[in-house]
Amino acid sequence: MLLGFKTELKLNNQQRTELLKHAGTARHAWNWGLKLTRQILDHNQANLENTIKFPSGIDLHKWLVALVKPENPWYFEVSKCAPQYALRDLRMAWDRCFKKVSVGDMGFYEFRRQLEYKTKLYGAELVTVDRWFPSSKTCSNCGTKKETLSLSERVFECEDCRFSLDRDLNAAINLKNVVSHPMSACGSGEADFSELKQEDFSLLANVSKLSLTPD
Ligand SMILES: [Zn+2]
Repeated sequence: MLLGFKTELKLNNQQRTELLKHAGTARHAWNWGLKLTRQILDHNQANLENTIKFPSGIDLHKWLVALVKPENPWYFEVSKCAPQYALRDLRMAWDRCFKKVSVGDMGFYEFRRQLEYKTKLYGAELVTVDRWFPSSKTCSNCGTKKETLSLSERVFECEDCRFSLDRDLNAAINLKNVVSHPMSACGSGEADFSELKQEDFSLLANVSKLSLTPD
């Protein structure tokens, strides 16, 4: 669970100056490291035969000490931790970027847990839909339900009203409508998320995009 906390420090003038110097140095180191790592990625993409090893946070700090500090003497006025931590965090940000950490990797249990926690935190209501609710088979335009819908049919086409829409989007709209009128379709009210299929999961992710405001 990632939560943000706001903390305010009561600083005197001298502390304020020190803090700004450290923050400015960290920012300079981050921007330098970001530019350099981007150049390395561009180089590696263009020269597949002759790639440069992507630097670790420690590598970046060593290079900074050798190349950047001598030209920017104000680096010596602050703790070495300021640029060091900035580069470590930059490298961690790249790691997350490479891994593309997404809601899909979290697993159902964690996703559900976070949804419950966050909705409570922000005073919102979490509506769960019966696991057998036919979100994919129902036409989001006229409400007609198809008897069969194979997984390969990526576009929903209604034979009744000729409505046509991307399968997942059609299902997401049906789920969104359930959320707007919770009395009409919630069977059990308490779905068992542990048995959800991957397909249902992507639909849930879609509906959360549609009906939850980003934090
Ligand atoms: Zn229809």
